[in-house]
Amino acid sequence: MSGIDDEAAWAALRERMVRDQLEARGVADGRVLDAMRRVPRHRFLPERVREEAYGDHPVSIGEGQTISQPFIVAEMTALALTATPPLRRALDVGTGSGYQAAVLAACGFEVVSVERRERLAERARATLAELGYRVEVRVGDGSLGCPDAAPFCAIVVGAAAPSVPAALAGQLRPGGVLVVPVGSRGLQELTVVRRTEDGFAHERAGGCVFVPLVGEQGWPER
Ligand code: SAH
Repeated sequence: MSGIDDEAAWAALRERMVRDQLEARGVADGRVLDAMRRVPRHRFLPERVREEAYGDHPVSIGEGQTISQPFIVAEMTALALTATPPLRRALDVGTGSGYQAAVLAACGFEVVSVERRERLAERARATLAELGYRVEVRVGDGSLGCPDAAPFCAIVVGAAAPSVPAALAGQLRPGGVLVVPVGSRGLQELTVVRRTEDGFAHERAGGCVFVPLVGEQGWPER
């Protein structure tokens, strides 16, 4: 499968990914399916692993980090879209490759994305700009959110926290949704926190495995 440089061939792989990995498993939100049909996932991967872009698994993007499996990106995006409209600004914590941020942007969110590793942030910024996605990529500790850009309609965290980061929940607007994997370093539960008029409601959305969120409201570095 090496040597695929033809966008039509990539698009065919992408179409198959949407059908077999997303629709077949019950992802029904047309906004998510359309976005994931359009965003060229392979462009977010380093050349040497590009041919794995549409596989049913996470892929290494360097520095010990991964781009999430397509299904989990779809699931998190669909949960973000359950925020009460109008949907405006979203925060993506853990930019990594920039793919999740691009999918949120393709769904119509204005996206701010925070990454603690400068090299990943730079690469993601370049990819997003090349493809024309208007995402603001910042370098910093995303476990603290982005107070100056808050409040957010949706916050999607692509790394695992030991507990729900209070700073992030506090940056939701009423009707807003925070989607964050919470658990141990090795195994987590996808947790959904909704801001209501008078507090927060928590739901669980199934098991998952993410790299750790390293920061003040995440795990210590080791
Ligand atoms: N959403 C990404 C995948 C995320 S991998 C994608 O679509 O490719 C998790 C990312 O979170 C890694 O790049 C890691 O460096 C970053 N990260 C971990 N802790 C962080 C923190 N406190 N703030 C910002 N980024 C963090």
